[in-house]
Amino acid sequence: MAHRTGYRRILLKLSGEAFSDPEVKGGIDPTVVRQVARELAELQASDGTEVAVVVGGGNIFRGNSPSAGGMDRSSADHMGMLATVINALALQDALEKEGVETRVQTAIGMQELAEPYIRRRAIRHLEKKRVVIFAAGLGAPYFTTDTTAAQRALEVGADAILKGTQVDGVYDRDPRGDGAARRYEEIDFLAVLNQGLGVMDATAISLCMDNDLPIVVFELLLEGNIRRVVRGEDVGTLVHSGAAATPTPS
Ligand code: UDP
Repeated sequence: MAHRTGYRRILLKLSGEAFSDPEVKGGIDPTVVRQVARELAELQASDGTEVAVVVGGGNIFRGNSPSAGGMDRSSADHMGMLATVINALALQDALEKEGVETRVQTAIGMQELAEPYIRRRAIRHLEKKRVVIFAAGLGAPYFTTDTTAAQRALEVGADAILKGTQVDGVYDRDPRGDGAARRYEEIDFLAVLNQGLGVMDATAISLCMDNDLPIVVFELLLEGNIRRVVRGEDVGTLVHSGAAATPTPS
């Protein structure tokens, strides 16, 4: 088992689903957004962690979903990217209400409501303990916000990607309704790719693998979990190079 280290600068990936109201299976649930904001505020206050966030948009629109019904893929993806901006503004508002200075940077220019993505400026914000929310993905169709998370994490020099999900890590099979499913404490990038485990899409995993950027998959809404991951506690699943070639589920 790998000994985990804590992280000083993290990139938190929040999928659109993380924002969504389970009752209506979509939209934005303000209580969830507030909880994430509160936990990030506490984390900054207690540990001084530098936090960048990439938000998805799947709760509102995905370019490759049936609701895009025959649209040109690039146009549909532009809609998906705009959806991520809506989530980013919701999170920014919640963070500001918690007293956390926050900047949204978008990969598609919309200077009336957010800064453009500028790497050096983003790093400067992080150094000043501002939470930086990256929105509009990479600004390019045919990509995902998982790939954006990997790319931005590398650009700003994050120590790890924290991928918040609804389950508490990576399992050898779907744990929902299967009591025999076992969680991996750690797993190698290649095993994730070869076994098609739905951690992040293959482009994102490859980028992390090629650049030795670890990913921790963990349950987002379990109170205190973000801080546990940041402190290197054994929470969720650590995806990295050098995990046992044949991973043993814990
Ligand atoms: N998207 C894109 N390029 C990017 C990032 C996102 O075209 O660099 C679009 C794409 O249509 C995607 C949508 O934005 O379906 C929402 O992002 P994603 O599906 O990654 O959100 P999540 O699954 O995290 O909620």
